[in-house]
Amino acid sequence: MAIRNIVKEGDPVLSKKCRPVEKFDDRLHILLDDMRDTMYKAEGVGLAGPQVGVLRRVVVIDIGEGLVELINPKIIMKSGEQRETEGCLSCPGEYGITVRPMNVTVKAQDRYGKEITVEGSELMARALCHEIDHLDGVLFKKHVVEMLEEEN
Ligand code: ZN
Repeated sequence: MAIRNIVKEGDPVLSKKCRPVEKFDDRLHILLDDMRDTMYKAEGVGLAGPQVGVLRRVVVIDIGEGLVELINPKIIMKSGEQRETEGCLSCPGEYGITVRPMNVTVKAQDRYGKEITVEGSELMARALCHEIDHLDGVLFKKHVVEMLEEEN
């Protein structure tokens, strides 16, 4: 296990589209373990492949309710709307109010390739949308309606 470098905004890897994971092997498991450790060390609630320089459709999330690993995630349902403060480990010190769905349902695979469904509301819905966006090269700023004062 290792802590990986978190890529910062401005790096072209953050604006690229990720390819699906096809092999659910040791290499994927090491990546997931490293992403988990890196996320916890940075005290984030989510981390996506491109943020550690890996253009694969892989996401880890923990909003304080346990680790969720999502491989090849897809949002299959969204409803409602919320406006809350959002930030990103790749954009340190920057926060803004985003508009996101209140509830989302995501279909994905687990680290062994088994199909799973994850439902999230409020913070979990925001985290799911935010991290899945990263897989398509989209940063949270695209959904910001108001940037907040920078915190140092
Ligand atoms: Zn982010």
